[in-house]
Amino acid sequence: MAVERRTSRRKSRGELFIDCERCKGCGFCVEFCPTQVLAMGEKLNRKGYHTPVIVDLEVCTGCDLCGLYCPDFAIHAVRVKIEAGEAKECDNGG
Ligand code: SF4
Ligand code: SF4
Repeated sequence: MAVERRTSRRKSRGELFIDCERCKGCGFCVEFCPTQVLAMGEKLNRKGYHTPVIVDLEVCTGCDLCGLYCPDFAIHAVRVKIEAGEAKECDNGG
């Protein structure tokens, strides 16, 4: 059986920083993320707001749109370079 092997050509990925205690639960970061990295979580912070959780960091590009839309400076992202050895082969599901 032929096995297709592909290697990711991504040169960068996102790294996310969330300060849950600053968050007021508006959900803008979830709404405006173009790749659906985030969702609103179940837990409440000390102020009683639901805060975002990361559901799929793999698809985060580090564009920082979430940070730009956050009115409370509670989230931001940076773009980090993927080193050569870090590139992953696609999982073709078997
Ligand atoms: S940096 Fe961009 S892709 Fe990553 S969570 Fe924020 S909006 Fe989404
Ligand atoms: S945009 Fe900021 S304040 Fe609104 S849910 Fe996201 S992290 Fe919280």
